[in-house]
Amino acid sequence: MKNAGRMVQGAGCGGRRTERRPAPGTPHPAPGPRPPAPGPRHPAPCSICGKTPVTFVRYSGAHLCREHFVDFVRRKVSRELRRQVRLPDGATVAVAVSGGKDSMVALRILHDLLGPRRGIRLVAITVDEGIRGYRPPALKVVARHCRETGIEHRVVSFREAFDLTMDSTRRCWGAATPCTYCGVLRRHCLNRAAREMGADVLATGLNLDDTAQSILMNICRGDVERLARLGPHERVREGLVRRIQPLRQVTDKESFLYATLMGYPVHHSVCPYAADAMRNRFRELVASLEDSSPGTRFCILNSHDALRPSLEEMFPPARLERCPGCGEPSAEGHCAACRLARALKRGAGCRVPGAGNDEGSGTGARRRSAP
Ligand code: SF4
Ligand SMILES: [Zn+2]
Ligand SMILES: [Zn+2]
Repeated sequence: MKNAGRMVQGAGCGGRRTERRPAPGTPHPAPGPRPPAPGPRHPAPCSICGKTPVTFVRYSGAHLCREHFVDFVRRKVSRELRRQVRLPDGATVAVAVSGGKDSMVALRILHDLLGPRRGIRLVAITVDEGIRGYRPPALKVVARHCRETGIEHRVVSFREAFDLTMDSTRRCWGAATPCTYCGVLRRHCLNRAAREMGADVLATGLNLDDTAQSILMNICRGDVERLARLGPHERVREGLVRRIQPLRQVTDKESFLYATLMGYPVHHSVCPYAADAMRNRFRELVASLEDSSPGTRFCILNSHDALRPSLEEMFPPARLERCPGCGEPSAEGHCAACRLARALKRGAGCRVPGAGNDEGSGTGARRRSAP
């Protein structure tokens, strides 16, 4: 019957869902024989051109063919890039590339978007944390890919910067998860390398899922100050290369599909220390919320964006000094990386080549760090 139902927009802040509800007063269908079972299901055609789709974007309800999916992701990245930073001619853009799908997608989309622009220089930086069996093959993938695409590539290592490796300090981590150390030391290495290479901005491959997880993690820890500092940098601060996140609106699945469709070489193995990461629990939580309510990740991101100005007022950025140990920016005295590296080298049972083997604690990860 025509007009027996009405279309209901059930969209949250990120998704637009349409469902059919009976109009008021419509009787329930009379009980009777069941309708025949549906035949084999054919995916709906691309919502834009009608060709065979490669994916269904659940939070928007769109089916997309290869061409329109690629265009959809690139547009999102391009919009986000314009929103986050204005790049003058002659700018240098550094990209942190681990060899995983997200950083590879970020590197290649930036290469495609910025390549035609006059005078923009793109450089890739990879951090070698010293994790046997995991980092060396990823390094090879990135190095080969950069050679083939003509992108300048630099590798920086924990050994070179701190005279330690993640493997050599594993007995010194104490109650903290390895990622707590690794994250601080890696940010330090990336900032230093990007600044030395003359970069105006440093792009990371953080995607929408990562961002939503980080926001929830900091809320659940009650770490409001860190919540204020999450997200792309909005201003330039002395000694800190401004960080941008071009994949902020791209989901994990979209990043994977994009890398696969474009045939990028990606290093898929998982870090042997990742099992201990607190993030794993939040990954499951965000995935389950998104599954039951498509668009939730965008809602989390949008809520954080709306709260951020107030959070920044509550926690204005600290004045940065130079760390007396390494010269990197620091909010107070020795920077977080120097303090952690020193604690790791002093850890009980910790044997770091070229360093002492004093008694001490490997924890202390929650101290204030430079943004
Ligand atoms: S999973 Fe953790 S320990 Fe492994 S590379 Fe990532 S941050 Fe470092
Ligand atoms: Zn299409
Ligand atoms: Zn330092």
